[in-house]
Parts: sequence; structure tokens; C-alpha cells
Amino acid sequence: MPADMSEACKIAIAGAGIGGLAAAAFLASDGHKVSVFDQFDAPRPVGAGLILQETGLTILGELGLREAASELGSTIRRLHGQSVDNGRTVLDVQYGALRPGLCGVAIQRGALFDLVYQAAVYAGAEIVPSTRIISASAGQGLLTTGAGTTLGPFDIVVDALGVRSPLSLRARHALPYGALWATLPWQENAGFELDALVQRYRQARQMSGVMPSGRSSDSAQECLTYFWSIRNDAYMQWKQAPLSDWKGEAIDLWPETSALLEPLENHDQLTFARYEHRTHRPVVDQRVVHIGDSWHAASPQLGQGANMALLDAYALARALGESDELDRQLMYYARMRKMHVRLFQAMSWLFTPAYQSDSGSLAWLRDWLAAPVSRISPAPKILAAMVSGGLGSPLKRLGLRPGA
Ligand SMILES: Cc1cc2nc3c(=O)[nH]c(=O)nc-3n(C[C@H](O)[C@H](O)[C@H](O)COP(=O)(O)OP(=O)(O)OC[C@H]3O[C@@H](n4cnc5c(N)ncnc54)[C@H](O)[C@@H]3O)c2cc1C
Repeated sequence: MPADMSEACKIAIAGAGIGGLAAAAFLASDGHKVSVFDQFDAPRPVGAGLILQETGLTILGELGLREAASELGSTIRRLHGQSVDNGRTVLDVQYGALRPGLCGVAIQRGALFDLVYQAAVYAGAEIVPSTRIISASAGQGLLTTGAGTTLGPFDIVVDALGVRSPLSLRARHALPYGALWATLPWQENAGFELDALVQRYRQARQMSGVMPSGRSSDSAQECLTYFWSIRNDAYMQWKQAPLSDWKGEAIDLWPETSALLEPLENHDQLTFARYEHRTHRPVVDQRVVHIGDSWHAASPQLGQGANMALLDAYALARALGESDELDRQLMYYARMRKMHVRLFQAMSWLFTPAYQSDSGSLAWLRDWLAAPVSRISPAPKILAAMVSGGLGSPLKRLGLRPGA
């Protein structure tokens, strides 16, 4: 370990997801010697589209990537959801209610991955593929791989291994519902708006959504991300039944999606994602520090996970630039992020069952109580602040201004 922590550190980042790569880009450009280990054989992203909120976009701006992400993604100005049981508008969030011009950017995961990957490599981080991490020795700064190799010692080990991180032994709470996701071509004449994420619900048992999600590269075609909520224990049955059975159900819920679903011909075109909720404590254990989903996994209902991983990455780099003592730096990292993480974990826990559960009464409360209340001032502003990730002022805590 360097005697003076303002000197360059030797840092291992376990996991080359959004959080790990962003941390690598920040830390390597600050002059630290960074190695990123991932189990993938070649760099590749997983999953479908996601919404970058003002929080995540501001952090990407610090990496010089905001413009590129905005160009590849679709600008989202509104989230709109309707119940098919009673025709009521259940969700209507206008980003502009908080601040004119405020928006999200829905982007394909692959496009975002490419941007942060290039930034990490450009900053000088070493990316080491085909390395499955199975454990860490917190006090010694060592990592152990599935092949039995010991890596290190490192001054700092960053756990960015995501929701199933083997470096976090905290129990995960599997949520009963997950979702099927697909990236499909955008259809100009299908009647959907390019700047809105729209959803349909039947109670909280069925939910389907359409989100414009931009292009995978400059020359690629415009796409959308389609999702269908499904109980985990119904997945195998879905997989074994003809796809046309499910398509019939999906079109019955939302007839306007019929044309969008035409390209779906087999089950493998849809990816099943299970959702889990878990908060790892302590976030800093001697030389091991957790960022992203390895610290705070949640259902993607509020669309904040990747944004929070980006905030964590920036906070860690910022903390290492303060003071000369490692323990204090890492504690500072935790302090900067703790409140925001707690707030969004609690909100995700609270809101998810209103959209994905078997509870008829929660769906009723959502439609007949929460929805009307959400239209009374100042609720539209609060909702826009929640969705854009601004509740709890996470950027201010990092010394940043939105859009700066
Ligand atoms: C369907 C779905 C939709 C979502 N929508 C949104 C959204 O709209 N907005 C939003 O902000 N967030 C969204 N999220 C959440 C978001 O994807 C995550 O919060 C985010 O990816 C977390 O980033 P991370 O870097 O912590 O972990 P990950 O992105 O999960 O990266 C973990 C990395 O670690 C690697 N890894 C895992 N285990 C090992 C191991 N043992 N050894 C070596 N490598 C390993 C993996 O290969 C991966 O590269 C969504 C999630 C899902 C599932």
C-alpha cells in the first residue's frame, strides 16, 4: 500500500458491468493502477434497455459520454400507465413537471456498455476476461478465482459483481415476479410515441410495457424494449407452452402491441430476468468496497439501478481524491452515498408490489387512491424528482449539479 494514499493505488475491480467499468474509467484517469476482472470470455453486455436518469447522465457527463449516450438513446419525457380493468390512468409522470427540459434517456444496454468500456480502456484500465471471482480476503486485499488462483495484493478491492456477488453473503430476497424482455424494431406506424415509456396493467398480476430504446450503434435501426411481467414459478410453464398462447394473452391485455410482437417467433427471443432485493452491509469492509447492485439490488420498477451504480463509481473516485488515509476515504465514500441508497431501496420495496404482485387490494389502492392523489400538487413534482433519481439530492452530495 502506498504510504501516502494521495499517491496512485493498485485497485482491483471485480465485475465489468456498468458500475465496475465506470469506476475503472474514473479511477484509471485519476492515475490509479486499475485491473478489472470479469467472468465473460469477451466484453459483452447482458439484458435489455434501461433508462438513464438525470443522475446517471450527469455522471456520464463527467466521463465525457453524456452526449454520445443521448445520441444513441431515445429521449424520454413521460411515463404513462393505464389499468385495463377500469381504464384509469394509474401512472403519469412528466419529467418536465420538475424542471423544463428535464428528461431521461432510454438506451440499449449494449450501447451503454460499449461507451463505458471504451472509456475504461482509454483511461488505461486493464480488462481481464475469463476470470470468475469466488472470494476475497478483505484484510489482505486478495481475490481468489474459480481456477484457484490468488490475485493481488491490492490496496483496494472493489466489488462490482452485481446482484449475485459471491463477495456479499447477505441474504437476497427473491421477488415473486420477474419479467420477460425483448428488444424489437421500432415501428413508425404502430401508434406509440418516441418519447414515452407506456405500460398496461391488469390488477398487479399482469403488466406489459413498451419503451423506445434508441440504436445499438450510429448506423443501427431504432428499437424498442418490450417487457412482460411474469411470476418466477410460471416461467417454466410459459417456456413449455406454444409461444402463440402467450402472444394471445399479451395482445388481449394490450391489443395495440399486436404489430410490435409480430417479430417474436420463439421463446429464446425473450430474456427472463428475476428480480431480487438486497442491501449489503457494511458497504466497506477493510479494503473491500461494494458498489452498484452488489451493495443495493432492487427491482427495476423505479429504473434507478444503473444510475445508482454510476453514482457509486463517481463517489468512490471522488473519495479517493480526498484525505490521505484509506479508511477515511472509504468511509467518506459510504457517507456520500448511504442516504440516497437507503431512500431508493425503501421506495423500491414500497412501490414494486403495487405493480407486480398477487394483491388485488394494492392494485385497487393504486388505481383509486394513489393515482388521483398523484395528480394533486406538489405530487407531480415529487414523482418527477423520484423518477429522475433526484430525491435525496445525490448529485449535490457529490458536489455536482444536474446537467453540469
Ligand atoms: C430487466 C432489467 C431492467 C432494468 N432496467 C433498469 C433501468 O431502466 N434503469 C436503471 O437504472 N437500471 C435498470 N436495471 C438495473 C440495472 O441493470 C442494474 O442495477 C445495473 O446493471 C447494476 O450494475 P452493476 O455494475 O452493479 O452490476 P452488473 O451490471 O450486473 O454487472 C456485474 C458484472 O459482474 C460480472 N460477474 C458477476 N459475477 C461474477 C463472478 N463471480 N466473477 C466475475 N465476474 C462476475 C458480470 O459478468 C457482469 O459483467 C434493470 C435491470 C434489469 C434486470
